[in-house]
Amino acid sequence: MKNLNKLVFTFLALHCLQVNAQNKYPVIVIHGGAGVIERGMLSEVDEAAIIEVLQLALDSGYAVLDRGGSALNAIEKSIIILENSPYFNAGHGAVMNYDGRHELDASIMDGSTLEAGAVAGISTVKNPILAAKAVMLNSPHVLLSGKGAEIFAKSENLELVDNSYFTTEKIKKSWSESKPQQLKGEGSPGAKTKKFGTVGAVAVDREGNIAAGTSTGGMMNKKHGRIGDSPLIGAGTYADNSTCGISCTGHGEYFIRVGVAKEISDQMAFANKSLSEAVQFTLHKKLTG
Ligand code: ASP
Repeated sequence: MKNLNKLVFTFLALHCLQVNAQNKYPVIVIHGGAGVIERGMLSEVDEAAIIEVLQLALDSGYAVLDRGGSALNAIEKSIIILENSPYFNAGHGAVMNYDGRHELDASIMDGSTLEAGAVAGISTVKNPILAAKAVMLNSPHVLLSGKGAEIFAKSENLELVDNSYFTTEKIKKSWSESKPQQLKGEGSPGAKTKKFGTVGAVAVDREGNIAAGTSTGGMMNKKHGRIGDSPLIGAGTYADNSTCGISCTGHGEYFIRVGVAKEISDQMAFANKSLSEAVQFTLHKKLTG
C-alpha cells in the first residue's frame, strides 16, 4: 500500500462515520442502515440485541483482518452475520415487496483491482453478499438479477432457502400496516411501517487494500422488480485503493440519480477533496430530496 493517507469511509444518509486509516491498519467499519429511529420505535431489549449483533459483526470482521485476512473476506464475514440476524433489512428480516415477497439486493467491490460483483432481485439465496462475491470472482459479469442470479448461485453451491426464510413476524406486521398507505398510492411508507437496516461494511487490510459491500431487502412495499441503490456499483457501494471505500444507503432512488458512492470517490480523485469534504459536498450539494 503506497498511500498511507488513505481513508476508509462508510456513510448513512443521515449519519456519517469515518475511520482514518492513518491510524494504522487494519480497519473495519460497519453500518446497519440509515434513517431516524425514534425512542418509542425500539424496545430496550431490541436495542441491546441489535448492539450485540453489530458488535459481533464488527469483532468477527476485525478478527479476519487481525489474522492477516483480506479486506474482502473481512467485510463478507461481517455482512453475513448481519444478514443472518432478524434485526436488519437484509437476508433474514428483510422487508417485503408489494406482493409480500422478499427481493434482495447486494454488492461488493475490491478496491485493489476495481473488480465488483452484485445481485439484484433475488429471492432464494440465503446470503446475497456471497452471491455478489461469487459474481465478482467466478463470472465475467458485474451484476446478475432475478432467476438468472439464482441459477448462478445454485451453480456456485450457495445455500438456497425458501422465500419464507426471510420473513419475521415483525416484518409481516409492518408490511400489512403499510398496505393501506400503499393502496392509497403512497409509494413511500411512513416512518412507523418502514424498516430501517440495510447493512454494509468497509475494511482496509494489512496490505492496505480496501473492500466495500452492501446488502438489503430494499424498501418496504416496493413495486415488484424495483431495484435500489445497494446492488449498483457507484451508487450504494464503491471501493478504490487510491481514494476510499464506501457503503452508503438511504432512499435508493435519490442515491442512484447522483451515483453517490462514485461521486465521493471522484470528488477525491479529480477535485482534490479530502474524504470529509467529498462527503459534505456530495451530501449537501448533490444529494437532494
Ligand atoms: N437503500 C435501500 C434501497 O433503496 C433502502 C434503505 O436502506 O432504506 O433499496
